[in-house]
Amino acid sequence: MGIAENIQQIVTEISPAARLIAVTKTKPVEMLMEAYQAGFKRYGENKVQEMVGKYEQMPKDIEWHLIGHLQSNKVKYMASFVAMIHSVDSLKLLQEINKQAAKNNRVIDCLLQVFIAQEETKFGLSEEELEALLLSEELKSMQNVRIVGLMGMASNTDDEAQVRLEFRGLKQLFDKLKNQSAAFPPNVDLQEISMGMSGDYPLAVEEGSTLVRVGSAIFGSR
Ligand SMILES: *Cc1c(COP(=O)(O)O)cnc(C)c1O
Repeated sequence: MGIAENIQQIVTEISPAARLIAVTKTKPVEMLMEAYQAGFKRYGENKVQEMVGKYEQMPKDIEWHLIGHLQSNKVKYMASFVAMIHSVDSLKLLQEINKQAAKNNRVIDCLLQVFIAQEETKFGLSEEELEALLLSEELKSMQNVRIVGLMGMASNTDDEAQVRLEFRGLKQLFDKLKNQSAAFPPNVDLQEISMGMSGDYPLAVEEGSTLVRVGSAIFGSR
């Protein structure tokens, strides 16, 4: 199947519960254009530099999602156009996003990345760190960011039961925080759960994902 057919099939599969982010890292602009010409406009990249390069070459009505680990000193390169940052894992990073968004007269939607996997290597906040960030004094004064939900990456394993448990844990945490919404400032508006990739997105949607990040199942292996 071609790129457009792959996208169409996944969109049909996950709708209306979740929206698809086509993850285009390492893939050439020609492939993105193929998807764009079929009408698809929501893309995810894990590196700022690569996203900026593609942003410059692609039409400007695209929603760009930064999904990979982000260093504070890179925020300035994409603050003018990024639609959503999925990988916020510290107050310091959030402060920099707020600062750069303000310079561009924008409010940038952010997800807080939560550590849900068993592996040691994945980035993300613990439940305690997450709550501390949401309740922090600093967050209250940030007028140029909006925290719209949570993001998580499951363990890289064939054990479906394990992956399902991790997704379910993230959804339970989301629901718990949503019930505490009154305690958080107005720039916290929890709507989205970003979870699920090529190997596990059907499972993620069953467990409550609203945004799936799918690359290789659309564009082929990297
Ligand atoms: C690469 C990547 C994906 C997509 O991975 P696939 O297995 O190719 O679907 C999703 N999320 C993040 C954070 C990624 O870096």
